[in-house]
Amino acid sequence: MTAWPPQVVLATRNLKKQKELQRILSSHGIDTVVQTLADYPDYIDDVVEDAADFEGNALLKARAVHRALGVAAIADDSGLCVDALNGMPGILSARWAGRHGDDTANLQLVLNQCKDIPAERRGAQFVAVVVYVAHDGREFTTRGEMRGHLIDAPRGDRGFGYDPIFVADGETATNAELTPERKDELSHRGKALAHLISLLAG
Ligand code: IMP
Repeated sequence: MTAWPPQVVLATRNLKKQKELQRILSSHGIDTVVQTLADYPDYIDDVVEDAADFEGNALLKARAVHRALGVAAIADDSGLCVDALNGMPGILSARWAGRHGDDTANLQLVLNQCKDIPAERRGAQFVAVVVYVAHDGREFTTRGEMRGHLIDAPRGDRGFGYDPIFVADGETATNAELTPERKDELSHRGKALAHLISLLAG
């Protein structure tokens, strides 16, 4: 059993990811405060995410924060894997259109690439790998997936990234139309964190 610390640093500057993580932990009764790199202005984020998969990149990010700040660190490496694009954008999801974090351009590029693909071949999934490096350096890795399909025009203004073009299996609303609580129940990130929470609880 590994106790959750009073605070943990999430290896990102993406405040929407931080918000989701904080919300998911709170919904499991964990009152750890999730900080981000934005809380550490002197931290130099020089991690090159050059691993071959989500696991590798999440490990790189979490280890770098743990090493530099000496605190419990958590990293989420996630992305959208489109069947008809052979699993791409995958680990390149955040920079698919060329500029890191340009959600609108990334989403438009995927839509354009999929525009001639018929409905029955528009399957896709979100994947998240979460790595937690405890204060003492022990590492825990978990993974979560959310299956669904892509629609051909964005809908909804919640969430982030590719949420407006993704409908999870069993839903009619896009991820960007779901309540945050419903997205957390279904999501790759929600599932990966639920696994992490039970792993730490022993
Ligand atoms: P990372 O910071 O390298 O993990 O980038 C993940 C990227 O995948 C984000 O920038 C989004 O484009 C996409 N992504 C990951 N999770 C989600 C999600 O829950 N909804 C929508 N897009 C997501």
